[in-house]
Amino acid sequence: MRRNFPRKIKAAAIARAAGHCEKCKAALKKGEAEVDHILPDILGGEPVLANAQVLCRVCHKEKTAGDIQRTRKADRQRDKDTGAIAPKQKIPGRGFGLSEHKAKRLSRTKQSLPPKRLFAQPLRAEEID
Ligand SMILES: [Zn+2]
Repeated sequence: MRRNFPRKIKAAAIARAAGHCEKCKAALKKGEAEVDHILPDILGGEPVLANAQVLCRVCHKEKTAGDIQRTRKADRQRDKDTGAIAPKQKIPGRGFGLSEHKAKRLSRTKQSLPPKRLFAQPLRAEEID
């Protein structure tokens, strides 16, 4: 499943590094050079020279650990996008209080009208005549 670099690319990368780790610049003995995918192939990195870097064992280990983290993150992101993972619920805040200006305006415009009279008092007999 891992697409390794072709031997030619590996050789070219090792030649470019000229016996040094391309990250920490440590001198590499023969056979110590490890050719790493700058962008991991699982994340779409192509097995080409531009995506190859020659690392010492220590740098390669660190890099690979980081790749695993990034790969997991990419997996999580993809699963969130497809809905396989439910998004975390946002905790609703209590919002902002009214500003002094807005409170003043509301108290001016929202003055309540006197209550409407629903029933009229029945007229008394002496008032009809
Ligand atoms: Zn190194």
